[in-house]
Amino acid sequence: MKRVVTIFLALLPWVSGAQGAPSEQLLFDEWFEPHTMRFDYYHCGDAGGEEFYFADIHEEPWWAGSRVSLIDGNDYGNQMFRIVDDATGRLIYSRGYGTLWDEWQTTAEAKTIRKSMPESVVFPMPKADVRIELWSRDGKGEWGKRFEQAISPQSYFVARYPQRYDTFDVEVHGDPSRKVDIVVLPEGYTAQERGKFEAAAKDFAEAIFSFEPFRELRDEFNIRAVWVPSHDSGVTMPGAGEWRNTSAGASFWTFDSERYQMTEDMHTLRDQAGHVPYELIYILSNTDKYGGGGIYNFYAISSAGKAAPSRARVYIHEFGHLLLGLGDEYVGGVSYDELSMYPSDREPWEVNLTTLVDFESKAWSRMLPAGTPVPTPVTPERADVLGVYEGGGYSPKGVYRPWPNCMMNSLSRATGFCPVCTAAIRDQIEFLCR
Ligand SMILES: [Zn+2]
Repeated sequence: MKRVVTIFLALLPWVSGAQGAPSEQLLFDEWFEPHTMRFDYYHCGDAGGEEFYFADIHEEPWWAGSRVSLIDGNDYGNQMFRIVDDATGRLIYSRGYGTLWDEWQTTAEAKTIRKSMPESVVFPMPKADVRIELWSRDGKGEWGKRFEQAISPQSYFVARYPQRYDTFDVEVHGDPSRKVDIVVLPEGYTAQERGKFEAAAKDFAEAIFSFEPFRELRDEFNIRAVWVPSHDSGVTMPGAGEWRNTSAGASFWTFDSERYQMTEDMHTLRDQAGHVPYELIYILSNTDKYGGGGIYNFYAISSAGKAAPSRARVYIHEFGHLLLGLGDEYVGGVSYDELSMYPSDREPWEVNLTTLVDFESKAWSRMLPAGTPVPTPVTPERADVLGVYEGGGYSPKGVYRPWPNCMMNSLSRATGFCPVCTAAIRDQIEFLCR
């Protein structure tokens, strides 16, 4: 029996390869329609625990994701969702992601109040009844299932919204299922500022593709934009007493960090993004003030004003968070509890950070030049040499980074992404374009 199984598996890659899909993946057309199903919910709780509450389900017109990479084997993110076929119990889709709520849970505020944030996940439209499962990591980094709910795609309560906004292509290189599809959304541009947003969207594309490995892989991307005018121009700044009515509801001073510009309104972002085929949401905000944020497979935002400091570098840094959850390689500068972000007794899931608890599990460990001391001292000769340098993940001690100055570290000193980030970016683009 064992031999038969072996032969069968050995033949599969050739057989299914002829159909354009590797053996370990399901056939998209068997399980899915090429549309998006969107599951909206609320993420609630405090420092001591979390709960999830259903909001609603939507159908969106396109599925821009891969039709091959259906099961996520990367293990990135603090959250994960799984779509399980009801009749067979088979896992048919999964993705890791992160959320703003996860970060909030590590703040001092989460020890004193309970809070709810809207969140949302998208997956291809199942043909039959399914179950959605929401999983998250516990304090030890172990996955646990926190929520599940049955979904019937045939239900007439699946909301189907008509188009409400204009859209435009920034640059399109081909079939969305074989490309990384970015949707650019405006924040704080009034009806009179449409031209300014269109120029910002083009500037964003040029900025992203001015850095490797994105420059070389430009043809693997599609960038489209949705035009959503705001009532007010600019972005809300609570610490400066400036409140504005804007399309994405973004704000500086998130978690009381002045430069941390984010929005909690994920359901509204999805309503806007669903006007085009997309996988990744990038918000350009109409301000010159330095700041932004990006969370893995959630969304990223940054200031698009011509005078915004390090504008292009902020785009690329936040995009690193959004695309594959690259960790921050810098020290300090955040309001969350540094120790609880990267506890010394567990290995972070981020490809570019280590606590040395299980460094051997990382691709990084196999990329080190022979004879590299671990930890590696920072010296002038090692400015662009791969090593294991102490200081990263906001913490000066106990967390290590691959390069003295990667783009995920100091924006002013970095010459580009470190070799560890670069290799992982390439792998992720390949995964999304299969
Ligand atoms: Zn790096």
